[in-house]
Amino acid sequence: MAAKEKYPEPTYLEYGFGELDYDVIKKELCCYCGNCIAFCPKIDREGNRPELIDYDPNCGLCYAYCPRTMFDMPGMAKKVFGRERKVDEVLGIYRKAASARARASVRAQDGGIATALLIQALNSGVIDCAVVTDRDDKWRGVPKVATTAEEIASAAGTKYTITPSVTGVQMAMDQGFKKIGFVGTPCQIQALRKVQLLEEPYAFGQEKIGLLVGLFCMENFEHELLFPHLVEGKFGFKAEEVDKFEVQKGMFRVLSGDKVKEVPLEETDEYAWKGCGPCFDFAAELADVSVGSVGSKAGWSTVLTRTDLGAKVYDSALAAGSIEEATVSEKGLALAGRLAKSKEERFTAKTADLLGRGVPVNIRR
Ligand SMILES: Cc1cc2nc3c(=O)[nH]c(=O)nc-3n(C[C@H](O)[C@H](O)[C@H](O)COP(=O)(O)OP(=O)(O)OC[C@H]3O[C@@H](n4cnc5c(N)ncnc54)[C@H](O)[C@@H]3O)c2cc1C
Repeated sequence: MAAKEKYPEPTYLEYGFGELDYDVIKKELCCYCGNCIAFCPKIDREGNRPELIDYDPNCGLCYAYCPRTMFDMPGMAKKVFGRERKVDEVLGIYRKAASARARASVRAQDGGIATALLIQALNSGVIDCAVVTDRDDKWRGVPKVATTAEEIASAAGTKYTITPSVTGVQMAMDQGFKKIGFVGTPCQIQALRKVQLLEEPYAFGQEKIGLLVGLFCMENFEHELLFPHLVEGKFGFKAEEVDKFEVQKGMFRVLSGDKVKEVPLEETDEYAWKGCGPCFDFAAELADVSVGSVGSKAGWSTVLTRTDLGAKVYDSALAAGSIEEATVSEKGLALAGRLAKSKEERFTAKTADLLGRGVPVNIRR
């Protein structure tokens, strides 16, 4: 007992930015979601990493909110869904799987469902703004607070470049929004669920997160590698001329006007963001509703409605006629499941490799 008093169990609060830097950023575990930057005024962006701009010895918020520190997925699932995932639920817990597409013609990545659901949520008052990831003319991701359907639609399409999109949540809070919708990758959804679910003394803005739309994701890429080496280097496209990126049938494709260039997906590994390796989550398992391309026909999205809120928004979009639904094939769902499984296996191999090099990964699948 005396020893315990002398050496108390460490709490998140005792771990500050120094530990985040040492345990996560320097070990290349950081997924650059932007959560620490969003919720701590003393952390900012420096290149492609969070950087402390003003030291506060009493604060451990960044360590607590980071999805790469002490991440307990079964515990999180229990809080969100009331139970843990069963081993065979490889896409996480969901109540319904479907193929769907938006009726409006938006230049979307797949079926335009991410865009349509955020617009539905905005129009029905579930959210008062949506944090989306737009892009600049060089295809760098730009977090944006969208307050109209047009602004949400203008950010449609996948940017395969790592972006601290969660910083948009801070922008939305600064602008006084109280029911913030967010769309993003699984790590970004994990980060915001951590914000929502941690208890005092970390309760800070959690009630303002209104809706989480998750995207399926195998990995993301580093702009500084993908563009000079592949898009501009190997393919000879200027960034400004690229219309769309897509992954289809194992090929990574870049579309520019009537030209299409592609390489097998494995050949893009060298451009991948290193912090994507220690991630097990393919289907954004903690989102209210998850959307991806795999499993559905071209021009349609695979949709997994997970929570009451996700189902409410999805069903109201169907009822309003802004989206249409088709049955998702068992083959399609099985394919999505195989990708999820392979991401999980990559996570296991990566974390074992890190541990072998003396880097413990404190993430529980
Ligand atoms: C990095 C990345 C990897 C992906 N990998 C896969 C995969 O392996 N398999 C699969 O089936 N699907 C994958 N997806 C999802 C897929 O590309 C589509 O986003 C999804 O099918 C939704 O399509 P949609 O037409 O409904 O979306 P849209 O209506 O076009 O909306 C897309 C939304 O995504 C947001 N967004 C775009 N880029 C980013 C980004 N970099 N970070 C955060 N948010 C962003 C935008 O804000 C926009 O609102 C990936 C997405 C991303 C961002």
